[in-house]
Amino acid sequence: MVGNDASVTLEGIPASPGIALGVVHLLSSVTGAAGEEQSIQEFEIELEVARFHAAVKAADDTLSQIEAMAREQIHDRAEIFEGLRMMLHDPALHTSICGTISQRRLSALGAIRAEMGALAAQFSASPNLTIRARAEDIHSLQEHLIAALGTAPTAHPLHNGAVLAVGTLSPGDTVLHARGGVGAFVLEAGGINSHAAILARAFELPMVVGIRDLFARLQPGCRVIVDGYVGRVIINPDQTTIHHYQLRKESLEAQRQRYRQIRDLPAETRDAERVILTANLDLMEEVEGALENGAEEIGLMRTEYLAMHRVAEISVEEQTYAYRKIAERAYPMTVNFRLFDIGSDKLLGNAWSSDSSPLGMRGMRLLMAHQEILHRQLEALLRASEMKNIRVMLPMVGSIEEIRTVKRMIAEIKQQLLAKRVPFDDYLPVGAMIETPAAALIAETLASECAFLSIGTNDLAQYTVAVDRANESVAAWYDEFHPAVLQLIRTSILAAHRVGVPITLCGEMAGLPLATGLLVGLGLRRFSVAPPQLGSLKMRIRSLSAAESRAWARAALRMPGPGEVRAYLRSCMDGGDSEVN
Ligand code: PEP
Ligand code: MG
Repeated sequence: MVGNDASVTLEGIPASPGIALGVVHLLSSVTGAAGEEQSIQEFEIELEVARFHAAVKAADDTLSQIEAMAREQIHDRAEIFEGLRMMLHDPALHTSICGTISQRRLSALGAIRAEMGALAAQFSASPNLTIRARAEDIHSLQEHLIAALGTAPTAHPLHNGAVLAVGTLSPGDTVLHARGGVGAFVLEAGGINSHAAILARAFELPMVVGIRDLFARLQPGCRVIVDGYVGRVIINPDQTTIHHYQLRKESLEAQRQRYRQIRDLPAETRDAERVILTANLDLMEEVEGALENGAEEIGLMRTEYLAMHRVAEISVEEQTYAYRKIAERAYPMTVNFRLFDIGSDKLLGNAWSSDSSPLGMRGMRLLMAHQEILHRQLEALLRASEMKNIRVMLPMVGSIEEIRTVKRMIAEIKQQLLAKRVPFDDYLPVGAMIETPAAALIAETLASECAFLSIGTNDLAQYTVAVDRANESVAAWYDEFHPAVLQLIRTSILAAHRVGVPITLCGEMAGLPLATGLLVGLGLRRFSVAPPQLGSLKMRIRSLSAAESRAWARAALRMPGPGEVRAYLRSCMDGGDSEVN
């Protein structure tokens, strides 16, 4: 553990650029949907109290529904539920549970168990039969509250710019903490293309991952500087270091300003080859950021975050509302809605998939196995497609049959909507993501069933080099510049060109400075990146020559390994741009 004034530097892996200075909030395990029975830190008290109140409300709703159903058959005897609901709202019970959360620093779940358990024990010990029977009521209420903790919307933790230090971070919790005002993330585990890292970049929050013994080296409340550009965490920095980082932050802000100045100019190479720049979004709120940064389209709208921390199904109505809102905000830009890609590291705390293996149940496989989820999502997308700016993109496609099934289902839903006179876009284009070597190798076949393709290099790289993208112990082997990955990208681009369908690259590689010339040289003309990356990407494209880039790509494809590819590309970029890595 580092003392109060000793300055220590920890080196990790840079996962999201940016610089932050703040106090540390240590979180050894992040609150999940149901919440572990854990002891909590001071800053989590408010969150856990809010979760308790949300659970009371959800349990009350459930009990009222049961009461209404019961009344239909057992009439006045259903009053038992009224009694239970009165106990649920007992102010003394609330005071004791909230007191336990704040004084004993227990999670909502821990406090409910402790307080209601003690109450039930008191009642059970009574010689009076009626009072003893109340113990059962307490027990039943406790079960309702615990179940409700899992379904009640999770409140946001409050960080006020603090640096959150955690072991691991799920995508869902990344969003909650980002919304709770976290200033930066520091992780013991994690890879740079994990979904938590992608989200941190989307929120423009610095993130450093892969710092060993993090918890032994940080004290809650100590001041740190997080440098997400190089993957450095400086504990207890001195005044000179603080001053240096403040200056750096200002110069980066000035650079952002320069990107804004070219926002309305086309992304065009020096030899007049036009490139389309589109945005990757995880949340509806990011549409404005895409517009501000000059996106021409939403190249990838991840929909799985709609399902975050939800146990129950998401109704067609709720999905229609969300998709229509996004399509309206983005209009006239096209939005490529990617169907739920759940599974692997995107478990999101819901019941649809508990398979965390990247080789397991995820993406289209999961949707094929749960066609009711697929059906609801397609119906919602059709209902939201009236303005004709929606496209449907399939994640983790493994075979042409998956595309055909989706198209058949869309045709059936169209018939049902027609019969109900619900308007929709009859054209509704369907496209596939190329995220596995199998899909890349049959890209031409897939393209023949599709209106467009999109290469997901985050997964394509993980499956090609057989490295779990979220596992930091093998992060050194994960490399998009591996010649095998480059060959598969090239195969996919050529296949799309032959069939005559547009192809985009929407993996994180699209935003890597070192990859821009290479990808233009491989024939890519559509890039999709997080909104904050659009400005720098456009600047690089405007400085490139497509003819020269083709020569770079030809040479890079002949390199024996990723190290040589990187070194060669670095040598191609004259003057050594400081952003290049
Ligand atoms: C990808 O795999 O490159 C991709 C864009 O999808 P995701 O990162 O959501 O898996
Ligand atoms: Mg993917």
